[in-house]
Amino acid sequence: MGVGNPEGKSGALGIATMTLEQAVNWARTRAMWPMLFGLACCAIEMMSTQASRYDMSRFGMELMRASPRQSDLMIVAGRVSRKMAPVVRRLYDQMPAPKWVIAMGDCASCGGVFNNYAILQGVDEIVPVDVYIAGCPPRPEQLMHGILTLHEKVMKEKISDWATWGQSRKKQDAIVVE
Ligand code: SF4
Repeated sequence: MGVGNPEGKSGALGIATMTLEQAVNWARTRAMWPMLFGLACCAIEMMSTQASRYDMSRFGMELMRASPRQSDLMIVAGRVSRKMAPVVRRLYDQMPAPKWVIAMGDCASCGGVFNNYAILQGVDEIVPVDVYIAGCPPRPEQLMHGILTLHEKVMKEKISDWATWGQSRKKQDAIVVE
C-alpha cells in the first residue's frame, strides 16, 4: 500500500493504492459480525466484551446478529453437549461463507474439566476452528486478543483460495491464544 502526498498536511487528499486482496480482506475484518448465542459460563465474559467497558464495536462488531444468515463469526462460548452439537452444526451451515469460528475457553477448545460422554471434547469435532482461546473462563481481553488474532489471519488469506473457500482450510492452521 502506498500513500501519495509526501509533503504531509497540505490539505490534498492524496492517493492510496492497494490490491483487491488487501481491500477485501480489510473489509472483511472491519465488519465481522458475530452470531448471538452462548452455551455456558464463558458466554458471560463474551457479553461483557460487548458491553461498554470493553466495547467490541471499536472493531466494527457493534451488533451481534440473532440470525446465522447475517453472521460470519461463530464464537463458541462454553461447553458443547452432544445433544447440542447438531444444533451448533446447523447454525454453522446456515452462515454464509466466508465464515470463521473461535473456540472460546477450555470447554469449547477441548472439553475442559468435563471429560465425560455427554460433552464434546472440543467443538472442532463438528466445525472447523480458526482460533482457540485458553482459559476458564477467558477474560474479555483474551477474547479481544483472539478476535484481533483472527483479523490478522484473515488479512493473510489469498485471493487464489477464495474460490475454494472452506476446502483449503486446514486444522493445523488454527491458532491458539493464551
Ligand atoms: S471454560 Fe470454564 S467458564 Fe468456560 S464454559 Fe467451561 S467451565 Fe465455564
